[in-house]
Amino acid sequence: MKLVLATSNKGKVREIKALCEDYEVVAYSELIEEFEIIEDGDTFKENALIKARAVFKTLGDEEAIVLSDDSGISVDVLNGEPGIYSARHAGIDANDKDNLYKLIDDIKAKGVKESSAHYTAAIAIVTKDYEYCVHGWMYGTAHAEAKGDGGFGYDPMFIPLGYDKTLGELDEEIKKSLSHRAKALSLAKKILKTL
Ligand code: IMP
Repeated sequence: MKLVLATSNKGKVREIKALCEDYEVVAYSELIEEFEIIEDGDTFKENALIKARAVFKTLGDEEAIVLSDDSGISVDVLNGEPGIYSARHAGIDANDKDNLYKLIDDIKAKGVKESSAHYTAAIAIVTKDYEYCVHGWMYGTAHAEAKGDGGFGYDPMFIPLGYDKTLGELDEEIKKSLSHRAKALSLAKKILKTL
């Protein structure tokens, strides 16, 4: 079964390909020219559906199965921010490093060195006949210090519950076994089996 990913985020594409080894997975930008998708939903679910619908429509292939991932980190000491705004925390054109160090500065500005936090992933599946959305979460601690260069995004500052190293330092197999994305994808795969 071929899955078209409604994302061109290299970190997500790499992880989703590794977590869906039984499927042929292609990023939509490998099939058609990349285009801007306005993610103006109020929830991870709404944004995941917006992305999957936009790519399904633009592909123009009735047989396509499009899968999207909308995800982010929510930090308790920041009242859940940046949440759905994780990709643009340091501004509209911010890259992963800008966002990481802005979040570290925000936590420091609260006068603490760490805060409980969690990642959320909403995975949407859109086909000609169906729309689904499932979620996964990973809980842990956001540290006001970056360590390691594994993973992507906020991983160098995030220590999963039960570990004492950041996702930037831990082996990628560990993230694969407990991530928000892995949990949501395990539900998504159950749905894919029914299509
Ligand atoms: P989206 O592409 O709009 O869903 O934005 C996701 C944002 O959350 C990006 O800034 C990512 O860096 C961040 N993010 C989502 N999942 C992860 C993850 O597994 N590790 C690190 N950062 C993540």
